Amino acid sequence: MNLRLRASVLECASPLALSVSPRLLMAKRQRTGALQNLAGQRRFMGRENATDGISISTVRLRLLRESVSKTLSEVGYNAVLSVATASLLALATSDTRANAANALSTHAAFAEHLAELEKKVPQGFTVVVQPPFVVIGDEARDVVHRRATNTVKWTVDKLKQDYFKRDPQETIDIWLFRDRVSYTNHARLLFNDTPTTPFGYYSAEHHALIMNISTGGGTLVHEIVHPFLRVNFPECPAWFDEGLASLYEQASEKNGHIRGLVNWRFKGLERAIKDGKTISFQRLTSMSGAEFYGGRSSTNYSQYYAQARYLCYYLQEQGLLVKFYHEFAANVKQDPTGYDTLKRILDEDDMETFRKKWETFILRLRSP
Ligand SMILES: [Zn+2]
Repeated sequence: MNLRLRASVLECASPLALSVSPRLLMAKRQRTGALQNLAGQRRFMGRENATDGISISTVRLRLLRESVSKTLSEVGYNAVLSVATASLLALATSDTRANAANALSTHAAFAEHLAELEKKVPQGFTVVVQPPFVVIGDEARDVVHRRATNTVKWTVDKLKQDYFKRDPQETIDIWLFRDRVSYTNHARLLFNDTPTTPFGYYSAEHHALIMNISTGGGTLVHEIVHPFLRVNFPECPAWFDEGLASLYEQASEKNGHIRGLVNWRFKGLERAIKDGKTISFQRLTSMSGAEFYGGRSSTNYSQYYAQARYLCYYLQEQGLLVKFYHEFAANVKQDPTGYDTLKRILDEDDMETFRKKWETFILRLRSP
């Protein structure tokens, strides 16, 4: 098994050392290595930075030597294949040694994480590395791969295209359990948790999304938004954090960009509008986290989510959501709630008049 894996690693010419420690790498750098036998892989390494003494390519070739000398489990093998692609892509845009050094330390941390994870993954699970996530699931192997690509990678790519520059610093595991029983049992076995939601949740303690994937991918996409907001917009208040995350619970692609669709939260909001129970946007945006989250049993809890989501939806449909995000994030020190930025982006002085306009817009939507 390991021989076959090693051969495959050589074939894919991974520039990544999954298990190499930085110290080992430094020691290796001191020695003159015979790299000629790896010259065949040079064509995979992209451009070189010849003025740096140690070229990016040479460092990566040395890393390659490390990676092929390791015995890789299936976890490691998947990781090599998937991360190699990302690494090669990153290399194509790397101009400086600093970039390469960053990439290497990221890879070393990733490798360490995978080694730890490998000890924990139960038999029969498939592991797919999809940076900055690792997807682990007990559905059929091809299904897990499909979710890693079609849901996780697609979401990450689309979110980064419009919103986010930085990846979460920590590696986040996405556990996709095939049904309620697997979800409940493994949450207890692996994390000592008793889930309070049938869909899935984020465990900050374990840096893990723990999902019952049989309920659909909506919650997964929602939960992917949060770690990106945390690192790119740490001051983001609850209303926008949850508004944006829940917008993409139901999403498709339009003109190459992610687009939120009307979803199950619409019904409750429609009811609230008809009953005259929506709140002012000034109040919504100024809520503390404690007030916004309130208590999950309260009906307000889901109404706040719905109102925040459909404010984001409205902005999206006016072509203003991405602009709002960037201006809000840029001006958050002066406008921590986003309310002033919202008024400016909407070009509205009277936000009560706007609320009526928004409610009329919402009532014209159709339930999915
Ligand atoms: Zn959320």
